[in-house]
This record gives sequence, C-alpha cells and structure tokens, in this order.
Amino acid sequence: QAKARGRNGYRFYAPSMSGEGVERLRLETFLRRSLEKDEMFLNYQPQVEIDTGRLVGVEALVRWNHPELGLVPPNRFISLAEDTGYINQLGKWVLYQACLQMVRWQEAGLWVPKMAVNLSAKQFERGSIASMVGDILRETGLEPHRLQLEVTESVIMNTGDAMVFINDLHSIGVGLAIDDFGTGYSSLAYLKQMPVQTLKIDRSFIKDISTDANDEAIAIAIIQLGKSMNLSVIAEGVETEQQAAFLLRHGCNLAQGYFYSKPVLPDDLLQRWQS
Ligand code: C2E
Ligand code: MG
Ligand code: MG
Ligand code: MG
Repeated sequence: QAKARGRNGYRFYAPSMSGEGVERLRLETFLRRSLEKDEMFLNYQPQVEIDTGRLVGVEALVRWNHPELGLVPPNRFISLAEDTGYINQLGKWVLYQACLQMVRWQEAGLWVPKMAVNLSAKQFERGSIASMVGDILRETGLEPHRLQLEVTESVIMNTGDAMVFINDLHSIGVGLAIDDFGTGYSSLAYLKQMPVQTLKIDRSFIKDISTDANDEAIAIAIIQLGKSMNLSVIAEGVETEQQAAFLLRHGCNLAQGYFYSKPVLPDDLLQRWQS
C-alpha cells in the first residue's frame, strides 16, 4: 500500500493504469462476451400521438445486465462497443430482436405500427448495411416500411458514404429518422437531398420548453422546418403535460418520453397497449 504512494504521499498511476483505463479494459472484456452470455436485452419506449394518445411506434433501446456490474447504461457501453468494433455484432443482434418482437406482438394481438432502431456510425463503415437489414427483414417477416432506422446528424455528416448507404436503405423500403436533431451540426442541403421521413427533436430542447425562450424558439423552428420539408417531427424526452400541450399548440403531434412511458419490457408494453 505504502509502496504505491509517491514521495509526497500521493498515489501515482501511469495513464494506462488510471482508474478509468482499468475500468474501460474491464468493461471491454465483459462486453465482448455479453451477447453469448445472454446479458443483453431490449426495452421499448412508446411513441404516441399527443392529441389521441394512440401508439404510433416504439423505439428499441438496448440494455446490458452484467452479473457483477449490474445494469450498465448504454451511454457507458455504446461508445466502447463502437471503438472495439463490437457494435457490428451488437447492432445486428438488436435489429434482429427488435424486428422479431414486432412479429411476436402481432401474434399476441398487439399492433405496433412502427419499430425504431438506433444505428451507429460504425455500422455504416462496413459497407452495405442495406443487405444486412434486408436479410433480417426477410428472416423475421417484418414489412420494411414498419422499420425506421435512427441516425444522428454526425453519422450523416462524418461518414463518407453515408449518402449511398442511406439511399440503399431507402430503396429497400425502410424509413429513416434523424435522432437528437439540433444537437449536431447538420447541413440543410443534406437534409433536402436525403430520403429522411422524420426529425426527432432532441430532449435538451424539450426540457425547459416552457421556461427557456431559446429552447422554445429552437423547438418551434424545428417543427416549422419539418413541416415545410414534409417531414414528420417527434419530440424526445417529453416529461410533462405542459410540454406535450406546448408541442401540440405549435404543430407537433408526436412525442416520446416519460410522461407517456419509460422504456419497458415487451410484456409490459403488451399489457398497457393491448386493447
Ligand atoms: P436516444 O436514441 O436518443 O434514445 C433516447 C434516450 O432518452 C433513451 O436513453 C431513453 O431512455 C431516454 N429517454 C426517453 N424519454 C425520456 C424522458 O422523458 N426523460 C429523460 N430524461 N430521458 C428519456 P437510453 O436508453 O439510456 O439510451 C441512450 C442512448 O444510447 C440512445 O439515445 C442511443 O443514442 C444509444 N442507444 C440505445 N440503444 C442503442 C442501440 O441499440 N444501438 C445504438 N447504436 N445506440 C443505442
Ligand atoms: Mg434514438
Ligand atoms: Mg435521441
Ligand atoms: Mg441520444
């Protein structure tokens, strides 16, 4: 113990031995076996029509339950999975499970119009993502138009061939949404050229919508932008009735957030939405 201390009593770690580095290495080791050990599962968060409360879709959100670490949030492992390349395996698994779930709900008597799945930039670097998606749609039997892939602005702007891959996806009939819209840098010219159907207003703009004039202005501007480009706009992170009312008043009739439901397990979704 004493030996680990430096002359003035402070502990000294080489950068690679830093707590964070060790932690990352440990996470990485665990992560690599997470799928084979059955530790990953999906939650689904409802997307609703504000005025009617109708379910219009769900977003699949991956969860990692490690026996020692407990529930590790995606913000702690997605970027690691991207850095190590594991995201390709994980992303494919997520997509397959999500598509399969749509068919299962349908068999159980619940019609969920649309499934949204997040894609990361790394999944575009492998070449044809459309053939992978197409295979999964065929295997599961889900109709392409019921799948919506979510990408962030940075995926589009920073991936060399993003445009090509996105067009490929469009040509097999799947939908595309821009996630966290307004937080990245996006070019409106790109937006115009791309076969995108949906903008998701980032929840940072929704949070203080009734108290912060700037957030309010941004939210309204995104809604207007979507309208004028014939895109549907959905607000993320809607937590209060006031926020929902504000959105409706300004022409945004789609929302996702804790006010409606947290991300839940498939059976919980079935219980709540089955008529
Ligand atoms: P995202 O795609 O923007 O997903 C929305 C996040 O906001 C989710 O966090 C969701 O639980 C959270 N959220 C929803 N409603 C509310 C609300 O009313 N209030 C608050 N405070 N939060 C709300 P989650 O599940 O922790 O996921 C975080 C991010 O991790 C996602 O952001 C997405 O970028 C990424 N992610 C999750 N699953 C996947 C996946 O399967 N593949 C990839 N590539 N990324 C994923
Ligand atoms: Mg998303
Ligand atoms: Mg988002
Ligand atoms: Mg996000």
